[in-house]
Amino acid sequence: MKLSTSTVVSVVLPALVSAHDIHHTRYHARQAAVAAVSSAAGAPTVAASGSLTSAALSAPPTASFSLMSSNPNAVPLSSIASGVPTQATVPLDTTYQAGATPTGVSSAPGLPNPSSLVISSYPPLDKVPPTDSPEVQQWIQEVANSGVTIPNITATVAGGCPANPEAVSDSSRCWWTCGGCTRNTDIVSCPDKLTWGLTYDDGPSPYTPTLLNYLDEQSLKSTFFVVGSRALSYPATLQAEYMGGHQIAVHTWSHPDMTTLSNEEIIAELGWTKKIIKDVTGVTPNMMRPPYGDIDDRVRAICTAMGLTPVIWTRISATSTFDTGDYDIAGGITSVTQVLANWENILGNVSVIDTGFIVLEHDLFQQSVDVATGYILPDALAHKFTIEPVVNCVNKPLSDAYIETNDNSTDPPLASGGSATLSSGAPGSAEATSKAGSNSSSSATAMVSTPKGLGLVALTTAIVSLLGGTAATLL
Ligand SMILES: [Zn+2]
Repeated sequence: MKLSTSTVVSVVLPALVSAHDIHHTRYHARQAAVAAVSSAAGAPTVAASGSLTSAALSAPPTASFSLMSSNPNAVPLSSIASGVPTQATVPLDTTYQAGATPTGVSSAPGLPNPSSLVISSYPPLDKVPPTDSPEVQQWIQEVANSGVTIPNITATVAGGCPANPEAVSDSSRCWWTCGGCTRNTDIVSCPDKLTWGLTYDDGPSPYTPTLLNYLDEQSLKSTFFVVGSRALSYPATLQAEYMGGHQIAVHTWSHPDMTTLSNEEIIAELGWTKKIIKDVTGVTPNMMRPPYGDIDDRVRAICTAMGLTPVIWTRISATSTFDTGDYDIAGGITSVTQVLANWENILGNVSVIDTGFIVLEHDLFQQSVDVATGYILPDALAHKFTIEPVVNCVNKPLSDAYIETNDNSTDPPLASGGSATLSSGAPGSAEATSKAGSNSSSSATAMVSTPKGLGLVALTTAIVSLLGGTAATLL
């Protein structure tokens, strides 16, 4: 990883960060606390070890980790924290001419010219787009014409599980946020053991080029779940991801809790993100990730009608969700030590499940990129995992990731939009991973009844969940 100190790019963090943090605080604070309880405290080793603690951080001093390997050029752990000075960002090492086509995506159309984007023709950044525009009205009509029935499920209210007791008790919604319910149309893991479907969310950002450089150095490809507002702000970075052979997928326009939105707003969020990605790259993704994993059967049906397959991160029990917590370093909610302890906990679970896995990580903040390039990815490489984009980890070619280049030979469309929805029991589907405990149950009780589901941990989860509810109310 080469850091160019001569190229200092002024960085203005997007306006969504503060609102975003509130949500992440709500959902992640509980997880970090649980991880601290359940994490096996590994002995520090020579490669890198955790000893960084701070009274200002919520992570308890018990968090510890050991790594098999780290990057010799890694940013020191002491510099991966909230409030550290902004690092110099690196420029993209390659920019692409209009008309260029990517390798690895057969029959791809030519790359559009990003300078031709008219910013005023898109919705305001980081807000749920209006639903009365001609574009959204057309997409609403297309959803109506798709033949997909959208279930009559009421929207949830802000505040997560504690604020929505009726929705929580209604298991027919299959609401992932509260209980981890998945359907067999969700991709929640990779079918092959020790295979990591690598993903980064919330970009592109000024720090994405640093991540891309490291991925290039190690010949790694990832899936990027792109926020539409960021794509409009950083189109050349999105082009570099796409042209570099990474998978591009949808992560909504303004990063809302999807289940709190109306059908029309969900359509607007997904439709504008599909459109900006198409306008920048020339192709339309057919996978999406709901922000915070906030999806229920209503959101799923709209995704199906719009040709999008949901991808969530692996969750094998109420206390074992494959979330590094990396997003929360920047806001001071967690520490890098805790994140690496979470990573070690994930590794422990990886070794016992029968499938591969998908982990939640982000490329929006320098701290997340620093922990990924300096520590998590080098350690993963030392573990000899097969690391690849989600579309490849479910045994499909990269060209199947886009509506324009999917020849439907391995991936027939479900809806008119060209969905990559998997059939029941297909590789990557929830049924295929049911042996690992990640089945389609909506019962939180079932989720904790694993060999590792210690009573103490379950009790702690419940207590912290209640505390989290209080915090959400105050926020
Ligand atoms: Zn996100």
